[in-house]
Amino acid sequence: MKALQLKADWQPKPSYKLSEQEEATRKIQTGSAVWKHPNIDVTTLPDPELAPDEVMLEVAAVGICGSDMHMYESDSEGYILYPGLTRFPNILGHEFSGRVVEVGKEVRDLVAGDLVTAEEIQWCGLCDACRKGLVNHCTNMEELGFTTPGAMAQYIAVKAKYCWKITELAERLGDDKEALQLAAMVEPTGVSYHAMFNRIATWKPGNYCVVFGGGPIGLAAIALAKAAGASQIIAFDVSATRLEQAKKMGATSSYDPTKIADLNELLLDLTYGRGVDFVVEAAGAPAQTLAPLKMGLGVGATITHIGRSERPTPLSLEHYQVRGVQLAGSLGHAGHGTFPNVIRLMASGSLNMKPMISATYPLAHAKDAFKRLEARADAKILLLPNA
Ligand SMILES: [Zn+2]
Ligand SMILES: [Zn+2]
Repeated sequence: MKALQLKADWQPKPSYKLSEQEEATRKIQTGSAVWKHPNIDVTTLPDPELAPDEVMLEVAAVGICGSDMHMYESDSEGYILYPGLTRFPNILGHEFSGRVVEVGKEVRDLVAGDLVTAEEIQWCGLCDACRKGLVNHCTNMEELGFTTPGAMAQYIAVKAKYCWKITELAERLGDDKEALQLAAMVEPTGVSYHAMFNRIATWKPGNYCVVFGGGPIGLAAIALAKAAGASQIIAFDVSATRLEQAKKMGATSSYDPTKIADLNELLLDLTYGRGVDFVVEAAGAPAQTLAPLKMGLGVGATITHIGRSERPTPLSLEHYQVRGVQLAGSLGHAGHGTFPNVIRLMASGSLNMKPMISATYPLAHAKDAFKRLEARADAKILLLPNA
């Protein structure tokens, strides 16, 4: 089959202490400290083999994610930018959909012909975190498209327990092709859904909501806030294109934070002096987004943090205390009914992710799509491996 493979050199930084497990498995916790000189190519690889608990999918659509870009891009020393769990060489791609073409012997709930999307986090179900229901924090985690073969390929074998049927979406749209493209957006949308509605249960229709960051996760948060009845969605990003996209997804106002005089005053003005109720950090820049927040946070406000950022951030905890503010860290999209709920919202028409898809490319031209994304002007580009 044809697949997009990323290769990189194994060159652990002298300062990075490899664990025994990392040495043995080459599954690295901090990819940016080990993998050098990444390069991608569309190549011919053997078809995947099917395990008894897996289904074989003919991949219909697969999105290129910011983390794919961070594995493809490197710093001045040549190390990949992505700081997370990785094993190379590997097929990239983790935001995807496909048609079941074969089912393993132990699979009960899926049959050939089913249209599905799948969770990227391959939780084990056995560790302490999983047994607490916190599958996104599984300590035996593998990640599809990061440590195991991904979906930028004609075929992928996936455990049935990570798959969710998109029947409802296909029926309501009356168009399998369109349903499969939107289904590739379920995973990134699920990341925002998990942060807003699972990690902390404070969301209320009527909320004044702030979204920092107009990348795909921030845009999905805007669309979800709209679907969930926010009365205002105030978006912030430094890019004019992204601010426009934010408006398209449902932001009621949008600002470049570097061009406003005072963030707290602006938020108080917009909210009739009350402050905002719900803040989504999807910019990965908490020192610029969360650190300045004080009186702009309303009484009982919630902050949910999705953007990745390694540096410590000073927060005005005095205000958190006096105003009863809660802060939740959020990671992942798996479990908690997130995938089926996102699929239902898309099927109902109340969550429209279509404006985010700015282009589609056949797999053969995947490198052009990666090149184009270097400019960060697109919200989401989909590859169509079997088109
Ligand atoms: Zn992603
Ligand atoms: Zn686990």
